[in-house]
Amino acid sequence: MTAQIINGKDIAAKKRLEIAEEVVRLKDLGVTPGLAVILVGNNHASRTYVTNKEKACKELGMHSLLIEMQEEVSEDELLTKIAELNETPDIHGILVQLPLPKHIDEKKVIESISPLKDVDGFHPINIGRMMTGQNAFLPCTPYGIMVLLEETGISIPGKHVVVVGRSNIVGKPVGQLFLNQDATVTYCHSKTNDLPFHTNQADILIAAVGIPNFIKAEHVKNGAVIIDVGINRNEAGKLCGDVAFDEVSEKAGYITPVPKGVGPMTITMLMYNTVKSAAESLTRD
Ligand code: NAD
Repeated sequence: MTAQIINGKDIAAKKRLEIAEEVVRLKDLGVTPGLAVILVGNNHASRTYVTNKEKACKELGMHSLLIEMQEEVSEDELLTKIAELNETPDIHGILVQLPLPKHIDEKKVIESISPLKDVDGFHPINIGRMMTGQNAFLPCTPYGIMVLLEETGISIPGKHVVVVGRSNIVGKPVGQLFLNQDATVTYCHSKTNDLPFHTNQADILIAAVGIPNFIKAEHVKNGAVIIDVGINRNEAGKLCGDVAFDEVSEKAGYITPVPKGVGPMTITMLMYNTVKSAAESLTRD
């Protein structure tokens, strides 16, 4: 079998057209969706992510505000800035680019963002709402994965989904979103015994490990759907995922490539959440 490629770039482009239409509708109603991004320090990768988010906002006709803070900024100063943005009417989404410098408590910072503007979906209130199936901002990468499957026409109820990785931003929430859609979910992680036994049960396998080419053909059942969340560099410095693409795509039914798989969906869902927040602000005011 040779797997069908799930093209995240095309699906993201389609979603962005829908989002752009919603931006036009909201502007006609007098609201321009606005996203504030706080960047602390000078981490190269963080700066690239932030630049891409600003670019996406501009392309969709949204308002974007970049707030740069020095590496040495105090936790109090950062919290004060977030409190101010929580009260700023033309800002509908607040994102603090992670990781933060060690002297700042990330949990405290995330909890200081109003859950109504937490478009990253990291606030415990949004996580709790997601877990209980209520209206919430869903974390962008897991949400993007669900949209990829929906757009590809892959049915979820009753499927066995195996998630490799249990981070708070990818592994744990993506398993929950599948559970919410009636999948049977298994989580694997660094302490899991006999990983291939579990991954070979997967109708849908999510790789969110952060190790280049970690998932091999031996981990995969014939015809499985493989979602590769990893963004890594191989020994040659080339971008690669967590899945050994060439050998796994010989066995899988569907597979996401890296790049142009899950990656483009993350920023797209951030834009979606910001626009959703702007629309919801209209019904609250
Ligand atoms: P993380 O480091 O927080 O978590 C990695 C997880 O992998 C851990 O839960 C750990 O238990 C598990 N793990 C490690 N070694 C393992 C092993 N030998 N067997 C089984 N499980 C093992 O990483 P993360 O933040 O979840 O990110 C994972 C990958 O996804 C990274 O490559 C990251 O760059 C990428 N990522 C991509 C996007 C995107 O937009 N595409 C977004 C977030 C993260």
